Order: sequence, then structure tokens, then C-alpha cells
Amino acid sequence: MAEVTAQVRFDLFAGLIGHGPVVELLRRDAINPAHAYLFVGPNGVGKALVAKGFAGLLLCPEGAQHDEPCRSCRRILTGNHPDLVMVEPEGRTSLGVDQARTMISQASLVPVESVRRVFLVEEAGMMTEQAANALLKTLEEPNASTVFLLVAESEDDFPPTVASRCRRVHLGRVLEDELVTALEDRGLESTEARVVALVAGGRPGLALSLATRPEVAELRKAWLGVPERVTGRPGEAFLLAEEVLALIEPVAADLAGEQPNAETKERARKRALHTLLTSGLEILASWYADAASLQLGGPIRNRDLSLPSLTQIPPGRAIENSGRVLDAVVDLTGNLRPLPLLASLFTTLGSES
Ligand SMILES: [Zn+2]
Repeated sequence: MAEVTAQVRFDLFAGLIGHGPVVELLRRDAINPAHAYLFVGPNGVGKALVAKGFAGLLLCPEGAQHDEPCRSCRRILTGNHPDLVMVEPEGRTSLGVDQARTMISQASLVPVESVRRVFLVEEAGMMTEQAANALLKTLEEPNASTVFLLVAESEDDFPPTVASRCRRVHLGRVLEDELVTALEDRGLESTEARVVALVAGGRPGLALSLATRPEVAELRKAWLGVPERVTGRPGEAFLLAEEVLALIEPVAADLAGEQPNAETKERARKRALHTLLTSGLEILASWYADAASLQLGGPIRNRDLSLPSLTQIPPGRAIENSGRVLDAVVDLTGNLRPLPLLASLFTTLGSES
């Protein structure tokens, strides 16, 4: 009998959860790439991982079609490829025109060892308008050996003139079942994996960072407990908002992890807080959606909820509240003070009409 050896082929996208079809498109695109790409999608879905893998494809002399990583691919994996330039915001707030100009002048240099140079801007949404305009000039007269990869939450973070010159790559939420399977493959038992996936709301990055944390079930319970605790009285809503934030903030600080300096750490912390609040609000909205659905004979998402509690609120009101919570998700973007936002939301949710 012939011996069968499982061959693990080298993959620049190893470790990525979901996004299979997008990666396939990018593999084909790498053969004849555009000059600029805009990777957009919610926090924690894996945009930066996909962009980095794509940079590897663009720089590898063999299009990464090898079983063992070549020198170029190894350098991508270790983060020291001379033709991959990572551009990060200076300071806490923005990516300014000086940095854009530095990047643009570097873009005119010949590649060190690849056929092209790739500029990866992971927080491109932080570009100032001036910086975006400076970049625009380069995008209008592209250099054949340069590719820009911009990563941001939304296209709206850019002037339309910049966005329209980029090939857009949308990275959506990963399906819950796909996430559960990936977490099980990483050693989580199935109930645990399901809870983590529910909290992460289709964001593998968040799921992986929460996977090993004991608070994950508690976080979900806290959000699902909100509807039964809101009263419409602002003082109580404020205390409840404080309580929820007190649970989330230390987790956000931990998720920010080790960072090279205080500024990147603060940015990472804010990003983690924003992601956790968004996923939390989505959990809260799902409670109201379940309350409406149960009473109207539809399916429910949170199968472990107490059914009598879901019937305490009329379905019409539950639908309204679900909408209000999702509106708060939108208001959260760019909002640096979550406490008043949550307190006001909780007051409205508990009001009689
Ligand atoms: Zn390679």
C-alpha cells in the first residue's frame, strides 16, 4: 500500500478564519494587481491579516505557490520584508500629511528585492484630509511598481476621490458556525465555542482574544440582563451603564496587549473597547429581537434565555428597542465617551413609551 503523507502546504493566509472566497479572489488579483486596495469591514474580522497575506502574495517571486516558504514569504511572516512598508499613525489621533509625504516619496524608490513595493496602512481611516489628498495625487499618477493597501472600518473614512481610486475589498462577518468550528479546532469545547462565537458576533479576531478569557460568559450575561433591569429612571440607567462598562474596560485594556509605546497602546485599547461595546450592543439588540420573534412565532437566537422574561415586553416595543440599540452602535463610532451614550440608551429602553 502506498504511503500517504499529509502534506501541509505553505499558506500566507494560515491562521485566518473565514473569508475563503475573498482570499481566492485576491490570489487571482495578485497576478495583475491594481495600484491601490481598500480593505473595509468591521473591527476584528481579520482585515489586517488578509491585507498582510495579500502583501505577501504580491511580493513573493513565485506567487506563494510553493510548499515551503521562500525567503520573501519567510520575511513577510517575520515582519521584516524590505519591500513591505507598514505605515502607522503618529500620535493618538491621526495619520498626518507629513507621514503621507514620507510614504509617497518612498513609493518612488525602486524595490529592494521584489518586483514591487507594498505600502500597508493598517489604520488608514485615521488619515487626515490633507494626508488623503497628498495620497490622492500619487493614486492619480500611479507608479507601476507600487501597491497601496489601505485598511479601514468603512469607505466613509476617506474622501470619495480616494476611495474611488482603490479596488475595494469588503470583509464581512464570519458565519457563526464557521467560527464555532474554528474555535473547536483550536481546542475549545463546543458549548464554550458557541458562547465565544455569540459574543464575538462574527469577528474571529475578537473570538480568538476572548477564547481564553473566563469573563466571556459573564459579559454576555451582563448584556442579556439589561432589558430586565432598565426602568426609565436616568439615575438607575447611569449606574447600570457604569456597571456594564466596569466589566468591559479591564477586558479592553487586556485585549490591547503589549504595544511598542503608550500611544499605540491607547489606540489599541480604544479599538478593543469599541469592538467590545459594539458586540455587546449587538447582543442586547438580539435579546429584543428574540422577544419580538418569540411572540410572533419566529425562531430565537439566544436559545438559553428564559422564555417568560422574553414575553414581558410587547413585540412592537421590542422591535423598537432593538432598533434603538442598533442606532446606538452607529452613534458609538467616533464617540469617545461611551458612559453617557449607554446611560441615555438604557433610560430610553426602560421608558414606558
Ligand atoms: Zn514565497
